[in-house]
Amino acid sequence: MCCITTPLPLEIPEGEDTVPFNLPLDELVVKRLAKVYLSPESPKTDISLRVKDSFGIDFVGDRDETRQTDIQHNLQIIKEINPKLLEHVKRIILYTSEVDVHRLGLALPGDTIALFTTDYYILVHELAHVMYAHAPAEFHERQAMLFDGFYGKNLSQVEVKDGVTIFPTTWLDGSIDPRQGFVEPYGANNANENVATYVARAHNLYFWNHPAIELGRGYIPMLFLLKNFDFITQIQFDDIVNLMRDKYTRKNRH
Ligand SMILES: [Zn+2]
Repeated sequence: MCCITTPLPLEIPEGEDTVPFNLPLDELVVKRLAKVYLSPESPKTDISLRVKDSFGIDFVGDRDETRQTDIQHNLQIIKEINPKLLEHVKRIILYTSEVDVHRLGLALPGDTIALFTTDYYILVHELAHVMYAHAPAEFHERQAMLFDGFYGKNLSQVEVKDGVTIFPTTWLDGSIDPRQGFVEPYGANNANENVATYVARAHNLYFWNHPAIELGRGYIPMLFLLKNFDFITQIQFDDIVNLMRDKYTRKNRH
């Protein structure tokens, strides 16, 4: 669940025409990801062609039918909930299930997503990163007004595994609960992850029942901002706010 924020090294290993989808994500693989991203000849299946037709997205990588169908199905649900999330993404690369890269997904330059799982929420998370890359300056200014000064605080240590930097996923005390207006500690790493974690959580109404999420704790201004810039829909916003209000009413009745 993350993004490469620095530009990919774009030099491509000599003499390699085929791209393996089952390698660990080290520096070489980052180069190979770049190669995939640049490669015009990617394997096509019926499902990948349908994804191209339905969503305008190049869908390449793992040819496993079940996993490809999962992605197609998830894209259909996302299109029904919030088609704006699909507006900018150009390419999805699905890696084979054996890949262990210490990551679940990556948003790459060129409006490309690399997936190491078919999980619905990971896809939403990475789509939010792509949308974030296209957000206007006003969005960034408003988000900064809400959160600047709060990023990178009280988080567990940054880890480096196999040369890959892993952002903290827990608070310093080991908790993963929502806190200080962040839906999860991972979102407190930076503005981009804050948006992606929020957007993914907005697709799970049940999450907003969490006891740590209350009115007046800074969640509604961020949801309002995300709604105003189409990261989430009016319906998602209303459902979440109504749930929070109901929870508040129930709590104060007893
Ligand atoms: Zn991310």
